[in-house]
Amino acid sequence: MIIVSTIDELKSVREVLQKSVGFVPTMGALHAGHLSLIRKSIDENSHTIVSIFVNPTQFLASEDLSAYPRRQEADLDICKRAGVDVVFVPNIDDIYEDIEPLIKAPPSKGYTLEGEFRPTHFDGVLRVVLKLLNLTRPKNAYFGKKDAQQLYLVQNMAKTLFLNTNIIPCEIVREHDGLALSSRNVYLSQEERQEALKISLCLREATKLIMQKKLTCKAIKEKMQEILKPLKAQYIEIVSRDFEMIEEVEIGNSIILVACFVGKTRLIDNVWV
Ligand code: AMP
Repeated sequence: MIIVSTIDELKSVREVLQKSVGFVPTMGALHAGHLSLIRKSIDENSHTIVSIFVNPTQFLASEDLSAYPRRQEADLDICKRAGVDVVFVPNIDDIYEDIEPLIKAPPSKGYTLEGEFRPTHFDGVLRVVLKLLNLTRPKNAYFGKKDAQQLYLVQNMAKTLFLNTNIIPCEIVREHDGLALSSRNVYLSQEERQEALKISLCLREATKLIMQKKLTCKAIKEKMQEILKPLKAQYIEIVSRDFEMIEEVEIGNSIILVACFVGKTRLIDNVWV
């Protein structure tokens, strides 16, 4: 496995990869969710590049970028054991210049839901993803459904900016008790972790209602809020797969989304129905 940190190093390593390249962008603190993306990339491509970069432009000033978990040595070990070919671990100064064009997420899809509570977050996500795709020039890039709105916006960017990369959605990996894996789960105390289970629980209950053909979004969302108590969601929303607000669930074309603080930790989760 080759580890590179400068743009020049990455470019020269990329040049010799002649067959299909799969790319998995991450912010590190790798867990089984990340690993499932990495494994899928290794399965489906001749070469796999993983990036580890805690991207400052997707954090709001009010969010604690410096506290984001960093575990580079363990991450590199995970990548090596999985069979990754190249890990790109750039420095901030190599990725960003003072003077450069800015990319803005489409307001109607990038400043709602996550974007309402984290305005400019998706601008930063798209900015770094575009740079990383330009550098790695992958045939396929792997993104988790866990960050459903991010996945939608990246797919939209790839399509509308005519990028030569397939954006491949990957299933959400959960703990045995339902909690969606997240690098932020390490912040949870034992008690908070127990509370956090209500998030996946309310999503499962929503799915049950839908299977009983109870499709009215308002009623489903009320039931979910009840299950979450005493946690209070930042948002509980049901949208179509292209992130339009809907009033009735359309089975096969809907996503149920939750964002919720558990103590000081902000968690998101969703199900695709
Ligand atoms: P992050 O390091 O949080 O930026 O995540 C890197 C990639 O891993 C993103 O595409 C995420 O959607 C994906 N990811 C994070 N958690 C999970 C999970 N529990 N299951 C599947 N994919 C995930």
